[in-house]
Formats: sequence, C-alpha cells, structure tokens
Amino acid sequence: MFCSKCGTNLPDGAAACPSCNNAVEAGTPGGAPNTPPPVPTPPPIAPKSSALSKDNFTKFINFDIMITPMIIKIVYIAGSIMIVLMPFWMMITGGIAGGFLGAIAGLFFGVIIAAVSLVLFRLACEQIKLFFSIHKELKDVKEKMK
Ligand SMILES: [Zn+2]
Repeated sequence: MFCSKCGTNLPDGAAACPSCNNAVEAGTPGGAPNTPPPVPTPPPIAPKSSALSKDNFTKFINFDIMITPMIIKIVYIAGSIMIVLMPFWMMITGGIAGGFLGAIAGLFFGVIIAAVSLVLFRLACEQIKLFFSIHKELKDVKEKMK
C-alpha cells in the first residue's frame, strides 16, 4: 500500500505515513485488487448483408457454370464457321490479286491455315471447358466435405 499524499511505500498495518505523517485510510488492507474496468463488448455486426452477398456469389458461380459451356459451344461453332469460310475468302482475294493461279494458291493456303486453326481453336475451347469443369469438380468436393 502506498501513501495517498506522498506515494511512499507504507508498511503493513501502519496507521500513518512514516514520511509525511499523513493518516492512512483503513478499510482496504493490501489495497484494492487491480481489476481493469470492464471493456464494453462491441455489439455484433449483423451478418445479414455479408451472408446475403455470399449467397448471391454462390448463385452467380452456379449460374456461371451453367452458362459457360453453352457460351463455349456457341463461340466454338461460330469460330469454326469463320475458319471453314477462310479458304473461300482467301481464294477470292487471291483471285483478285493474282488471277486464276492466285485463286488456286489462296484456296490451297486457306485450307492449310483453316485446318491448323480448327485444331488450335478446338484445343483452346477444350482448355476453357476444362478450367470450368475443374472449378465445378472442386465445388462438388467441397459440398461433399460438408
Ligand atoms: Zn506520505
């Protein structure tokens, strides 16, 4: 216990401070336990909005999985048509530029380019499809673990 006036460390049971002779207040032997004031707990933030946004996000993901293969399919078909038309377009431009031989050359290179493009385009579409199927599989695993 310390003196309330000068702060000297008082011996136990002392009636007055040996330093300043100030009367020691009785009633709290050993001093009051040093308890910190209760910290008010902040009110819990309503999880309504975050839960709702999470739900919306899950819905969006589901929708995305549903719609993506369809988009890939449409893009693949449209792209394939354009690639197939490429030899004819090259034949016409070749014909304008170099007459009959130009048209033959245009058709020849057009077919080669179209064949390579079809394979590459197909692979690209498969990659996109694979990415989304992996995403879906991961989600299925997560669902099973619940
Ligand atoms: Zn004192």
